[in-house]
Amino acid sequence: MQLTVYDGAGTIGGNKILVETQGTAFSFDFGISYSIWSSYFEEYLKPRAARGILDPFTVGMLPPIDGIYRDDYFPSSVDMKANFEAHPEFRKLELNGILLSHAHLDHSGHISFLKENIPVYCSPLTAAISKAVQDTSQGDFEKEVCYKIPKEENEDGFIKSSNFKKVPAMGRPFHLVNPGSVGDRLQEFWKTSAAGRELVSHPLTELAEINGLPIRRYTVDHSIFGSSAFAVETKEGWVVYTGDMRLSGRKGHLTKSFAEAVSKLNPVVLITEGTRIYGEDDAIDVGYNDQVNEDNVFQNCLNAVKNAKGLVIADFGPRNLERLLTFLEIAKQTGRKLAVMSKDAYILEQVHAAIPNEVADPLFEETIVLFRDVKSSMSTWEKVLLDKYGHKMIDGRTVRKSQKDYIVCMSFLDINELIDINPDEGSVYIYSSSEAYSEEQKIDFKRLLNWLRLFNVKPIGVPDPSCDFKVRDDEKGYHVSGHMMANDLLSIIRTINPKIVVPVHTEHPGFFKKQLEEYQVFVPQRGKKLEF
Ligand SMILES: [Zn+2]
Ligand SMILES: [Zn+2]
Repeated sequence: MQLTVYDGAGTIGGNKILVETQGTAFSFDFGISYSIWSSYFEEYLKPRAARGILDPFTVGMLPPIDGIYRDDYFPSSVDMKANFEAHPEFRKLELNGILLSHAHLDHSGHISFLKENIPVYCSPLTAAISKAVQDTSQGDFEKEVCYKIPKEENEDGFIKSSNFKKVPAMGRPFHLVNPGSVGDRLQEFWKTSAAGRELVSHPLTELAEINGLPIRRYTVDHSIFGSSAFAVETKEGWVVYTGDMRLSGRKGHLTKSFAEAVSKLNPVVLITEGTRIYGEDDAIDVGYNDQVNEDNVFQNCLNAVKNAKGLVIADFGPRNLERLLTFLEIAKQTGRKLAVMSKDAYILEQVHAAIPNEVADPLFEETIVLFRDVKSSMSTWEKVLLDKYGHKMIDGRTVRKSQKDYIVCMSFLDINELIDINPDEGSVYIYSSSEAYSEEQKIDFKRLLNWLRLFNVKPIGVPDPSCDFKVRDDEKGYHVSGHMMANDLLSIIRTINPKIVVPVHTEHPGFFKKQLEEYQVFVPQRGKKLEF
């Protein structure tokens, strides 16, 4: 068996982990490497869509493999063959599929560049959320995860989008592994076009093998619903991949059950994440919210809402629906309405379609109202949504009149809505998401605090510039990470008890070598083959 970590080696995110065995080749995830992306690009300097795969390939975001990328991303104006062949690790390959762990774009985004007939294996929720995310994002050529928008060339050999009236979008085949029941509503959503362009799709099908190799999928706890770990049986034994996981959410027990179940397979290789490892000797986590779990976050946020005399704004990471449901419960207990943005309502609808017994339909959930932000034009999906929610739609001016009746779920990027709301005295902004990692994020926090000061809104849990954008000690506990602490991770690995450990999605792979002396630990290097 050969294993090549094309991304996620010594870095967090961008996972592309190629496994080759017995004539089968598949990749665990195929995400966007944000660390490479942000080394070269920023909001106003992006990969040029007109050049197809050239730009992401040149900066090292796409593996030098011929035979796996979409034909319509190869413009005739670029000699991609020469570009490929100039790469020292160039090779040809037929890829049998992607095992997608969850819908975070650092795991899924660059599926966009793959041939549209390469199947994706995942959970029903990952399929639903991935499509909702693609439907609601503005035609970004790096994010065509569920369906491709065919491209064509202009006379200069530049790639452009095809005529949306004439050329339909093409769905990728998605296979659901151990899905439980897949409702009609999810199948219906899967084939529904959101953008005015016709969508030709394959129905979601249940399948638990890739090219004859059996696959098992295990639901694990993480900061997005539907996260999975996988095990694939090869001639050499079972290969297990954790994806991203934690113990501190409401479904933490599932992560433990996964470890116990998979240990019975006596796996030969475990590919594990290690996001919250802070150094080689970090056996004891130094993360700020060590003891916090989702129930603590609920209690702390509930108290903050109870104490608020005016409006409450809740800011949690995009697509963190578990946190959204936490605030829904808080809204119910405090007699407020939960105002969500249209993107969140759209995703929530699809999550309801996938797990109707766990998540209510936002359209019929009395506590939820739709916040219409100020914009002059709207996409097709949003018009359809607003039509449906007409009877329960509010805007900044509605909130302005009765601020104590609302929790508005918005992020920094919607903060200019405060101008219409004009918050009352005693209003609060609860920040329930991660601290700043990059310089740009730090600047955003400065801007956020300027807005809050301008309107006299009290920040709660917002990273503080006076302590290097960490959350002050007395304001901790409004957020919990999507990843597990070092000690917990070591104990999960020992429960699984593989022969070989391959750490990915971590900045400190050396930690595993040092702490797991009883195991063979292979520290991967980007693009270099490991042989077992
Ligand atoms: Zn990740
Ligand atoms: Zn993730």
